[in-house]
Amino acid sequence: MKYTIQTWVNNPILRSKSVEVETIDDELQLFFLVLWKMMYANDGVGLAAPQIGNNVRVIATTQREKKSGKSKLIGETLMVNPVITDKSKEMITAEEACLSVPDVFGFVRRHKSVTVEFLDHKGHKQTKKLKDFNATIIQHEIDHLDGVLFVDKMVKEKPSKKDSRKGKEKK
Ligand SMILES: [Zn+2]
Repeated sequence: MKYTIQTWVNNPILRSKSVEVETIDDELQLFFLVLWKMMYANDGVGLAAPQIGNNVRVIATTQREKKSGKSKLIGETLMVNPVITDKSKEMITAEEACLSVPDVFGFVRRHKSVTVEFLDHKGHKQTKKLKDFNATIIQHEIDHLDGVLFVDKMVKEKPSKKDSRKGKEKK
């Protein structure tokens, strides 16, 4: 099967609720590799399976450390059937961009920290607590599994100015 980046806010694949993974078989392992490859090929900081046309609850995520505006890759985590089990009351509003909605940039309000439970690529149960930018990646990607796009939650769109949009970290 050929996977391609799915775009457009009314794309039925992006708007569907993805199904839980029941078995992590060889075919799914190959899909994990495709998801990673496409995330990095498109300079994404995260990518959800429906974004490349497969409605299963799988996300590829990176963890980053922000220092004076620049972000450095400090980890990567594949999550199968991710569920947010705890979230901070404190919220943050930050700029987001999405590979599936390439022309829109804007601000979204999200929980400052989240705890997420998931299965790793071997099917082992894992728990991770993430904060700030790394927490927004998880929330953005899990929304994709539920057919939700960041534009649905956007509190303010960033005015279009081509230059300011270059090199934005897309999810
Ligand atoms: Zn996205």
